[in-house]
Amino acid sequence: MAAEIHPKPQTRTPVLLSKIEASQDVVNTAVIIPKEDGVISVSEDRTVRVWLKRDGGQYWPSVHHTMPAPCSCMSFNPETRRLSVGMDSGEVSEFILSEDYNKMTPALSYQAHQGRVTVVLFVLEMEWVLSTGQDKSFTWHCSESGQQLGSYRTTSWVSGLQFDVETRHAFVGDHSGQVTILKLEQDSCNPVTTFKGHTGSVTALCWDPVQRVLFSGSSDHSIIMWDIGGGKGTAIELQGHNEKVQGLCYVPHTRQLISCSSDGGIIVWNMDVTRQETPEWLDSDSCQRCEQPFFWNFKQMWDSKRIGLRQHHCRKCGQAVCGKCSSKRSTIPLMGFEFEVRVCDCCHDSITDEDRAPTATFHDSKHSIVHVHFEPTRCRLLTSGPDKVIKLWDMTPVVS
Ligand SMILES: [Zn+2]
Ligand SMILES: [Zn+2]
Repeated sequence: MAAEIHPKPQTRTPVLLSKIEASQDVVNTAVIIPKEDGVISVSEDRTVRVWLKRDGGQYWPSVHHTMPAPCSCMSFNPETRRLSVGMDSGEVSEFILSEDYNKMTPALSYQAHQGRVTVVLFVLEMEWVLSTGQDKSFTWHCSESGQQLGSYRTTSWVSGLQFDVETRHAFVGDHSGQVTILKLEQDSCNPVTTFKGHTGSVTALCWDPVQRVLFSGSSDHSIIMWDIGGGKGTAIELQGHNEKVQGLCYVPHTRQLISCSSDGGIIVWNMDVTRQETPEWLDSDSCQRCEQPFFWNFKQMWDSKRIGLRQHHCRKCGQAVCGKCSSKRSTIPLMGFEFEVRVCDCCHDSITDEDRAPTATFHDSKHSIVHVHFEPTRCRLLTSGPDKVIKLWDMTPVVS
């Protein structure tokens, strides 16, 4: 699919507030400290750093701690100021940050995995630390004792992990492109179901516990919204990125989804609109509009002395059509297509300008993105990239 974004110049864009550049290597995860002008970062260069904004507007490290191995992931709980750091060695280390964020005290350390920890997630309500590793395992530990409570073998290594406190379901997104839903007990877990929809690996997950909606982002450039709360099995695709999706954040009070991709693209999706599911692609041996045979339909080609044509599909109605009957392109925002896709001539005529009104805004962070974090109280977005730079954005102009 020729996926080209033609963004119109945005008058309202995220405002770059600060850049933090001091890491020796990629910052794998960084979070904004709520209500503080502060950032916590963990990096491939083995450091855990706490950055506080000083007079003059620059961010300076108030904590600079070197770990025994590269830091691959992190989870920070602002209420308890508890920091869980996952490392390349498979170890998870926990720290407590002081109230003024000038000191970090080690609490616990344990071997959670046999390989690099890919995601770590602290769940205060359960006193659990959930983690996944390149050893293809999902484990959960007691955050008080450091004792392992349970584990589960995943089919592939995991890059997205979310947890629903209310029902104790874990959402595990893996490299094969599927999301497994696990029901967790104190020391055991059971697979409930699997969501399959991506053609590339799952790179990010985001859970909205209020609407009960799960968003999955993938290296196939798409995002899927799995409507669990709706109870009808609706899955809506969001197509707007030109590169692999690297991070997803949901803003509940404005019902917007922020997604970022490795080419630096930031998209703010309005989720307060009703989108339709994309249709199943229909099978046919001839064009469902002009009835010309497709190239494998030898019988009809022979009978009617016509040349076989290549099959295409209209993204709006799902019909199998020839190239001539689907020569036009259109965006279909209400089906999640924010860039132009193939539609049959009939559907093209039925799409009005009103239907084409974008339901998302497109922005450029001007650096490749590996990780994002959104802090809703002050409407700040953090992006970090392989350029070793952390950028802080004021999202007020676009999140409202
Ligand atoms: Zn045709
Ligand atoms: Zn059509």
